[in-house]
Amino acid sequence: MITDNKSVVTLVEENMPQQRTQTIGGLAPSYGRESGTGFPARRLRRLRQNDRFRRLVREHSLSIDDLILPLFVVPGYGIKHEINAIPGNYHLSIDKLIEEAKEIRDVGIPGILLFGVPDPKEKDLLATGAYAPNGIVQEAVRALKKNVPELLVVTDVCLCEYTTHSHCGILQDGYLLNDASKDVLARTALSHVQAGSDMVAPAAMLDGQIRALRQTLDDDGFVNTPIMAYSAKYASKLYDPFFKEGTQSTLSHGDKKTHQMDFSNSNEAMREIAMDIEEGADIVMVKPALYYLDIVYRAKTEFQMPLATYNVSGEYAMIDAAARIGRLDKKLIMMEALTSMKRAGADIIITYFAKEAAKELQ
Ligand SMILES: [Zn+2]
Repeated sequence: MITDNKSVVTLVEENMPQQRTQTIGGLAPSYGRESGTGFPARRLRRLRQNDRFRRLVREHSLSIDDLILPLFVVPGYGIKHEINAIPGNYHLSIDKLIEEAKEIRDVGIPGILLFGVPDPKEKDLLATGAYAPNGIVQEAVRALKKNVPELLVVTDVCLCEYTTHSHCGILQDGYLLNDASKDVLARTALSHVQAGSDMVAPAAMLDGQIRALRQTLDDDGFVNTPIMAYSAKYASKLYDPFFKEGTQSTLSHGDKKTHQMDFSNSNEAMREIAMDIEEGADIVMVKPALYYLDIVYRAKTEFQMPLATYNVSGEYAMIDAAARIGRLDKKLIMMEALTSMKRAGADIIITYFAKEAAKELQ
């Protein structure tokens, strides 16, 4: 029989499954229990009694350095149209995009994630507009790197903005072809990098897409361009504001459930992430963020890779809408939501709140 409390704790830990004994913050799971004294010797409220103490013992802090702001570029000149579904975010022509990028740089946000909203005339069944050298993203990247070189320009690589049906690749009898589509994705990524993109973010959730991109970039000499993989991207209705109004690419029919993940699954997300790492991903991502923090936590714990999470348009819209009718305090809920992503293990948070959060953090 074990009588020494410390031995009991050790014994319990030894019998815990591996992943449960690991912590992100570096604290041993036995922290606070080793003395075996408990209340009243131990009063956890002592370190919460004022802000100085709370700051001293804070485990996770959100920083401007963690943030990436998604931006939408459209053809034309002098255009800055607010996107109704994600207020405070805009469709920007390249000249206005440059103005916005300078502001983003000045508040200290390290980078942007760029989405193109091409002229509908540029769309076809093979998404040829996605890799056009003078496409909207390629032109925007060139202008950004020329005018705001200090800002990291990450480009989203998918085909749904460039197909007439708004599916993420080439369809055959209604089914999204994997291998043919991944080759178009690789070609698209290369065109972004040739235009000056600092990092590509393939978003289609096709098998083998990371290997295809890595090989294509390497063959062209871009061995130093990183890939941020949308590794565990779920088929979520939280993207609706983004597709309906952001990129204006609502599906003509069907859904994306044959390539994006079933939201009931978590082990499968680990397999997706493991495959992407094996194929050469430099940063892995979980998308969406808030309903998927268990996946974020598991991803960080199991892989210890640089990890991004995408706080998507629906998550933004929910907080914004609740704040508009006076139910929630937008700034406080924003900070709580973003910090929860950090606490779960995210290193990078892609969010429409980035500018507002950066102002709070300055
Ligand atoms: Zn897509």
